[in-house]
Formats: sequence, C-alpha cells, structure tokens
Amino acid sequence: MSLLKRKKALVFGVANERSIAWGVAKALADQGATVGLSYAVENLKKRVDPLAESIGATFVEECDVTSDEAIAEVAAKAKKEFGEIDILVHSIAFAGRDELGGFYYDVSREGFLRAMDISVYSFTALTGAFADILAPRASLMTMTYYASQKAVPNYNVMGVAKAALEASVRYLARDLGPRQIRVNAISAGPIRTLSAAGVSGFRGMYNEFASVAPLRENVTAEDVGDSAVFLASDLSKHITGEILYVDSGFNIIGIADKSEDEE
Ligand code: NAP
Repeated sequence: MSLLKRKKALVFGVANERSIAWGVAKALADQGATVGLSYAVENLKKRVDPLAESIGATFVEECDVTSDEAIAEVAAKAKKEFGEIDILVHSIAFAGRDELGGFYYDVSREGFLRAMDISVYSFTALTGAFADILAPRASLMTMTYYASQKAVPNYNVMGVAKAALEASVRYLARDLGPRQIRVNAISAGPIRTLSAAGVSGFRGMYNEFASVAPLRENVTAEDVGDSAVFLASDLSKHITGEILYVDSGFNIIGIADKSEDEE
C-alpha cells in the first residue's frame, strides 16, 4: 500500500526497536513515506542506525530537544535535505524515576520543570522551528497517555505533563489550521518500552489492562504506527486538534466488567 507516497516524514524519539517512534517510523515507511529519524543522544546512534538502514532512512540526526540550538540545527538540515516536511512525529517524554512513583506533591521544582520542558515544550518548540518548512496539508502528531485525564497511580508529573501536551495540541492546531496543517495526538495504551520501565508498577498495570479493556488486548507500537498512518494521510484531512485513543477502548470504561469465566 502507498497511502503516503511522496510524503516526507521526520520522526523524533527513536531510542530502540521497542520505541513507539520506531513503530510509527516503520509504518510510515511501509506506506511509501520517505522517513528521517531523530534520537536524543550520541550513545543511541548505534541502535538507531541499523533501524534507519532497514527502512532506507538516510536522514538520521541527533537532537536533544532541551536545546534550542539543536532543534534549529536539525530544522536547517531537514530544510536542506527535504525542502518541505509533510509529517512530523514527536514521540518524546522524560521524567525522573523518583517522580514516577510515590506522592505527586513530592515532585521537585526542578523535576517538574524538566518533565514539562522535555515532554511538553519540546513539541511546541519543534513545531515553531519547522513552521516555515511545513508543506500545505502537513500533519503533526505527538504521543500522549490517559493519565492526562484521570489520576493514574505513579504517573504523577507525567500525567500533568500529558494534560499540558494535549492542550498544546489544541493551540497548535488553531495556529496552523488556516494553513491547512493539522496537529493531533495519539493516546496509546501501555506499551513495554524503555520509558514505560521507569514508571513504578508499570508491569502490573500492563497485565491488568488487557483484562479490563473492552477489546481484551494490549496494544503495540505497531498498532500506534497504523493509526499514525491514518493521521498522517489525507484520509484524516479534516481531523485536527484531536486526541485519538489507541487503547483497546480502555478510556471509555467506568467500572471494570470482567465476565465470570474471565475471573
Ligand atoms: P521510549 O522508547 O523510551 O521513547 C522516549 C523517547 O524520548 C526516547 O527516544 C528518549 O531518548 C526521548 N527523549 C528523552 N529526553 C529527550 C531529549 N532531551 N531530547 C530528545 N529526546 C529525548 O519510550 P516510548 O514509550 O516509545 O515513549 C514515546 C512517547 O510515547 C512518549 O511521549 C511517551 O510518554 C508516550 N507514551 C508511551 C506509552 C507507553 O506505555 N510506552 C503510552 C502512551 C504514551 P532517551 O532514551 O535518550 O531518553
């Protein structure tokens, strides 16, 4: 299939083959997009290079999103390489391990600001830095989680950050809508990745999830990739500012309803 033929995509946040960013990058490439990848720090290069090679990606750039200079540099390189970008994917978050457990009120000022900087502001900063080279009808997306809407054990500052990220999506969608550029978020169910491993109790929650979600299945980075293809493609051309749940229906549940033979 080639829903994304002739589209040029940049995916930020690849750490390894488990990363949601990688599930998305692969799905975009499978649909014919030319994909560039970005990773946070030098020591990830050895993991990211072989992944890039497997999808024929030649644009592979380091970018620490806490640095305005690094973001400007990657935007300038992307302009040189691609001219215009049709698809920009932000799949980045960070909070200290200490902040992903215990009481939310124990979060330090520094930890709070760092989580907000990397997990929220970076999407706005990337959008700003790429604004001049976004193609008409470009699609931007970020990754969020249900802890933005409801208090979920241990997510703490990351839940607060995701709420701010989702609000950013709406404001960015408003900014760019008149240029026919769309901005959305995918809210994924729990997936076993490097970042997820930092959340206290993640394994238990991951296991419980499939017994509670209406579809009774966990979701994968590939599932997120499939939905990212939809949001990136013209099939979703009048959808912007939305949060698309890819969570086997978990978010619609009020009280868990396990049938007797499942208990
Ligand atoms: P992941 O593979 O660890 O990806 C997170 C990425 O953020 C990593 O590549 C990480 O690089 C990068 N990052 C952290 N600080 C950065 C910085 N200063 N500059 C640039 N990149 C930085 O984990 P993931 O689960 O795929 O996470 C991707 C996104 O999906 C996140 O927004 C996460 O909140 C969201 N999400 C995850 C789940 C889940 O259950 N896994 C569910 C819903 C939403 P380093 O490895 O170097 O830190």
